[in-house]
Amino acid sequence: MTTSIFILYYQLKPTTRDNFFKYEYNDPYKDPELLLNPYISNNYKRVNACIVVLVRNDELSSLKSSMRQFEDRWNKKYNYPYVFLNDVEFSKEFIKQTSSFTQSETKYAVIPKEMWSYPSWINQTKAAENRNKAIEDKIIYGGSESYRHMCRFNSGFFFRHPALLEYDYYWRLEPSVEFMCDIDYDPFLFMKKNDLYYGFTISLYEFKNTIPTLWNTTKNFMKKYPHYIKENNALKWITKDDGENYNLCHFWSNFEIANLNFWRSEQYIKYFEYLDEEGGFFYERWGDAPVHSIALALFTDKSKIHFFNDISYLHAPYQHCPINKDFHESGRCHCDPNKSFDLDWYSCTEKWWALES
Ligand code: GDP
Ligand code: MN
Repeated sequence: MTTSIFILYYQLKPTTRDNFFKYEYNDPYKDPELLLNPYISNNYKRVNACIVVLVRNDELSSLKSSMRQFEDRWNKKYNYPYVFLNDVEFSKEFIKQTSSFTQSETKYAVIPKEMWSYPSWINQTKAAENRNKAIEDKIIYGGSESYRHMCRFNSGFFFRHPALLEYDYYWRLEPSVEFMCDIDYDPFLFMKKNDLYYGFTISLYEFKNTIPTLWNTTKNFMKKYPHYIKENNALKWITKDDGENYNLCHFWSNFEIANLNFWRSEQYIKYFEYLDEEGGFFYERWGDAPVHSIALALFTDKSKIHFFNDISYLHAPYQHCPINKDFHESGRCHCDPNKSFDLDWYSCTEKWWALES
């Protein structure tokens, strides 16, 4: 099956197909320093990084299922600390069970009110009316207030939450996700060595009705701050008409390995504040994924963004599984490459490869 996909794909899209294998240029498995295992190397120095988990108390068991694979496939070798964040206090049970699920240090922090509430300029009556309309329009999470706070927090605040200030890099982890391949190196070290800002595994199109005015707001921002737009940017990945319209492509932000300092940069903070004043996090249902992705596409050199082909990841309903044979023949993976989302019409990853080539 895999072979036939290979062949079909090769015939249809030789250039894009070539990019499947391009990741060899910085293949971590060829770098002896990256492959250092702290179990074996006494002087292994961890990167200044943590695992960030925004989660609710009642998601304990589905979070444990994520942690199990995350630990077994990777973190038990590296023991990066966890920072658990919540808009309410974590329960004793949650703390007890999650801390005994890892050898790593675990920290638990509540989100300050101002990072999870309505800014003064938001008209809450209008927000409520728009939520009702969003329910009628069957917009996913259209009626949810908490989902909007979550998206706003992930867009503008997690990186400056007091518990995260000491770190430079983070890996975002969610409940009910899976990691289906061994990760035998330190992706944080990889990010640091290559001075990367952002790593993703899955990309796709956003639902247009969640962000009707996000792109116009972004265009106004670009007009006001043209000097923030990076020269070798990834604008071509998110628009096919030179910025006139947004094609809805975004990195799926439930998985992120990234540099916190990018979000702390002047241009990103200004961008977030500009969006926040517009109110679309509440009047519409702007997600942190398109917000992060648009900012990355505009404000970074595209070479700062990395596709982690070697990290297999599932967040229902989509998964990324490397299709390269050696991942499967070496016994490293338990995923089915035929189910990988990368070549689906709804994925934007092919477009990403085209941009890179
Ligand atoms: P989806 O992936 O877009 O379907 O959204 P999720 O329900 O998975 O939410 C995204 C992340 O935010 C997950 O890690 C959730 O546990 C977390 N999350 C969502 N809403 C809340 C909330 O109200 N409180 C807390 N503490 N975490 C939340
Ligand atoms: Mn989720």
